[in-house]
Amino acid sequence: MQNTEVKSKRPRKVCDICKSARPAIKRPKTGQMVCKECFYYVFEEEIHQTIIQGNLFKENERVAIGASGGKDSTVLAYVMNLLNKRHNYKLDLVLLSIDEGITGYRDDSLETVKRNARQYNLPLKIVSYKELYGWSMDEIVKEAGNKNNCTFCGVLRRQALDRGAVMLGSKHILTGHNADDIAETVLMNILRGDVPRLQRCTFITTGNDSMIKRSKPFKYTYEKEIVMYAHYKKLDYFSTECIYAPNAFRGNARVFLKDLEKVRSTAIMDIINSGESYENKSNNNIPSNKICERCGYMSSNKICKACVLLEGLNKGLPSLGIKKSKKARSNPKVVKDGESKEIKVKNFQELTKEENCQMEYEVENPNSGNNSQNEKLVSSVNTMKRKLQNID
Ligand code: SF4
Repeated sequence: MQNTEVKSKRPRKVCDICKSARPAIKRPKTGQMVCKECFYYVFEEEIHQTIIQGNLFKENERVAIGASGGKDSTVLAYVMNLLNKRHNYKLDLVLLSIDEGITGYRDDSLETVKRNARQYNLPLKIVSYKELYGWSMDEIVKEAGNKNNCTFCGVLRRQALDRGAVMLGSKHILTGHNADDIAETVLMNILRGDVPRLQRCTFITTGNDSMIKRSKPFKYTYEKEIVMYAHYKKLDYFSTECIYAPNAFRGNARVFLKDLEKVRSTAIMDIINSGESYENKSNNNIPSNKICERCGYMSSNKICKACVLLEGLNKGLPSLGIKKSKKARSNPKVVKDGESKEIKVKNFQELTKEENCQMEYEVENPNSGNNSQNEKLVSSVNTMKRKLQNID
C-alpha cells in the first residue's frame, strides 16, 4: 500500500519538447528525451533549416536524388518529398540510381529503390556502368582483383551520377552523406595530409562552377538519428553491405570517431566545425578544373582518372592509374586478338537531356493521391505546431 502511494507521487516523465507525451527516444544529437512525434518533427525541421540556411534550391529546379536503396538515401528521398510538399519548395524531384553491376548486392538494393519510387510516387532513372563504360564491377573485379575495387567504383560512380543527371535534365544532385560521413572524411583528410580537401569536404554544396552541383542536406544529421527515423517510420530500405566492401581506411576512421564520441558526445559536430573553420591560405595545391581530352568530363589532368582506369582495363593493364605507370606497364596481361575492348565513352560535353529518357518508374498521374496526402500532412504539421506553441 505504502509502495503504491510512493509510486503515484513520482512525476510522470514527459517529452522534453512538447512536455505532454511520454518520451520514447533519447536523441543522440542533443541527449533530449522526446516522444516519437516530436522526434519526427525536429528531425525533419532541422533538415529544412539546413536547406534554408545553405540556400540549396531554386524554385522549379529539377533535382536528382542519388538513391541506392540504403538507409541514408531512402530517408533522404522520403524527407525531401515530404519537405517539398510541406514547405512548398516547388522542386521537381527525381530518383537517380547507379547500377554498378554487383551481383547479389546492387541488384537486390535496386529492387528496394524501385519500391521506393512507387511508394513516394517519384520518377526513377537507373544508369549502369555496363551501359556507360562497357564494364560492370563484377567484370572489373575479375580483371583487376579485389584490392582496388572501391577506387574503380568511386571514380566511375562520380561520373555516372553526373551523366545520369544530364540525361534527366537536372543540374543538381542530392546525396545522403550524413554528419558522421563528413566527420570521417575530415579525419581521413587529416590522416592523409590532404590539406586542400580538408575544408572542401565540409561544404554543403560542391561543383557550383561545374555543370552539375551536388548538395548534402544531411550535413548536420547524425547517422544514428537517420537509422532511428527509418526504423520508427518503418521505411523500406536495404541494409546489406556491398560484397566488395573492404574500405579499410574509412573503417578505421569510423571506429576512431565512435571511440571519440564515447568520451566527447559532441565530437562529430566539433570535427565538422573544425573543417568548416579551417582556411587554406595557399592555393598551390588546389587542382585546377580542366576538361578531359577524351571524354569531356571535368578533370585536374589532361585525361581524367576514369579514362585512365578504363584504358587500363581495355588494354589488359588494370593497374594503370592505380600504380605508378611504369610498374603497371611492366607486367601487362596478354590480351588476345579480339579480346581487347574499345568502348567509346560518350563525350560529357555533348550529352544533352534525353527527351525520351527511359525511366524505370514514371509517375503516371502526378496529382493522384496527393491531395489527401497533403491534407493529412498539413493537419499533422498544424497539430505539432500547436503543441510546440503551447510549451510557452
Ligand atoms: Fe563500390 Fe566499394 Fe562501395 Fe562496393 S563498397 S559499392 S565496390 S565503392
